[in-house]
Amino acid sequence: MSETTRDWTQGGDRLVFQQCSACHHTFYFHRSFCPTCGDASPIALPSKGQGTVYASTLVQRAPSDEFRAIVPYRIVLVDMAEGFRVMGHAHPSLAIGDVAICTIETIAGRPLPFFNAHVTADTTKELHAS
Ligand SMILES: [Zn+2]
Repeated sequence: MSETTRDWTQGGDRLVFQQCSACHHTFYFHRSFCPTCGDASPIALPSKGQGTVYASTLVQRAPSDEFRAIVPYRIVLVDMAEGFRVMGHAHPSLAIGDVAICTIETIAGRPLPFFNAHVTADTTKELHAS
């Protein structure tokens, strides 16, 4: 496993998905076989970290003391550009349909995927123009 194909759950600094060598299906929940066709040689690929928010919720009642300390916080499901869906924490302003970028941040004392609004070159110009 190289540094670029080490998922955040394995101590890496990015999302790493899998793609089937036979049918090219992409998936995130790591398996030793393709959930679509059963092929036993999926490959691991680093995600570019960009996706579109599919669902969003604001958590008011946290599942543990660590997360209770940071309520309310936003949780999103994001459809990644590579074709898989993943869950993560998010900036409170992020909404369904927004383009978002994933980084791995320390949240409630542990590394977790965090999505923030994708700032394009055009957006940057607008910010600097005002
Ligand atoms: Zn397959």
